[in-house]
Amino acid sequence: MSISKNDLHAALKKYFGFSKFKGLQESVIESILAGQHTFVIMPTGGGKSLCYQLPALMQEGTAIVVSPLIALMKNQVDAIRGVSKENGVAHVLNSSLNKTEIKQVKEDIVNGVTKLLYVAPESLTKEENVEFLRSVKISFLAIDEAHCISEWGHDFRPEYRNLRHIIKRIGDNIPIIGLTATATPKVQEDIIKNLGIGNAKTFKASFNRPNLYYEVRPKTKNVDVDIIRFIKKNEGKSGIVYCLSRKRVEELAQVLQVNGVNAVPYHAGLDAKTRSSHQDKFLMEDVDVVVATIAFGMGIDKPDVRFVIHHDIPKSIESYYQETGRAGRDGGEGHCLAYYAYKDIEKLEKFMSGKPVAEQEIGQALLQEVVAFAETSISRRKFILHYFGEEFDNETGEGGDMDDNVRHPKKQVEAKDNVKL
Ligand code: ADP
Ligand code: MG
Repeated sequence: MSISKNDLHAALKKYFGFSKFKGLQESVIESILAGQHTFVIMPTGGGKSLCYQLPALMQEGTAIVVSPLIALMKNQVDAIRGVSKENGVAHVLNSSLNKTEIKQVKEDIVNGVTKLLYVAPESLTKEENVEFLRSVKISFLAIDEAHCISEWGHDFRPEYRNLRHIIKRIGDNIPIIGLTATATPKVQEDIIKNLGIGNAKTFKASFNRPNLYYEVRPKTKNVDVDIIRFIKKNEGKSGIVYCLSRKRVEELAQVLQVNGVNAVPYHAGLDAKTRSSHQDKFLMEDVDVVVATIAFGMGIDKPDVRFVIHHDIPKSIESYYQETGRAGRDGGEGHCLAYYAYKDIEKLEKFMSGKPVAEQEIGQALLQEVVAFAETSISRRKFILHYFGEEFDNETGEGGDMDDNVRHPKKQVEAKDNVKL
């Protein structure tokens, strides 16, 4: 298919109203349009969806998009329908559809109207769906959140493991596009191996967030006072405080309120109405601070979050990166402050003790990296980026002085280490 750069920009404008591609989008789309297996690694918010949506809209046939969350699929389908005005251009195929709806979806696909078909991996496994998809023209198959394939990812889904075989049955030469925001080399290897796309053209964006300042403080009994002090210094700014347990979330939210901080709790134990009301208050800036478990944040796009505090250290560097990544989306200041005590690592270990051995081993390895990060005296940014397989030079790289270890270097040799000499 020969499509010029002008055509690509025209299509970008026509379908999405954007006049420029973001980061690596254009090269990714060229690779997909060339019919190659393609692997895309971009941080959250990098614009991965458009990488497969645009070529799907431009090509003949239907692109199958595998995505783990029904809510995410629905959002995307609504967004695509909005840009095209043709309702059938995007569909979700899942078990909630009735017979009439399924018939409509199939008709739209057969008639070449449907450019994007979103499916959960469970639905793709169904024999009748495989049989149907074998019989129609498929442009390519995109696997969003492809890290779900890997046990080393933070969101392993066993159903993702079968995708390769199913794709093979749907068609022999279907180009496969994997997309993820998980940048660890281990997860990437797993994805490529599992999908059998060793020859994929790989695009990896930088994971550096130059406007974020990273800081780790030792966690003492006075951690709450320290947090209050920090928030007071940043009065009026939006921030998130992550805690490990629901109980701690409730307690800390209360402590903050008593101390005059406009804060609300958020965790999965609250009823849906309270949760969405607290989330809305935060988005509308009726409150400054959300104290939350990791249940808070998925898909929340508040551009001016000015700080993210980890009252408890997270269970992996990836979680830390994802959670701190919610600060400074607008490119402005974002202070990431984590409290660390080894005792908390032991707590996280205890949480894992009921799990299968293989899972525990992986969990342990991920935790060791967290310990190394918290205890390191090298640049936090350098550490994180190295963890994601990226070399970073603090002298020349953007944001090179934006962490505690660079601003306030620890003494290399502490007095007590010399005693034995
Ligand atoms: P990801 O899946 O990588 O986390 P999304 O696909 O959800 O990211 O995109 C993040 C945001 O970036 C969306 O609001 C999207 O509309 C926007 N976006 C994507 N591409 C462009 C572009 N070329 N120009 C401007 N905004 C874009
Ligand atoms: Mg996405």
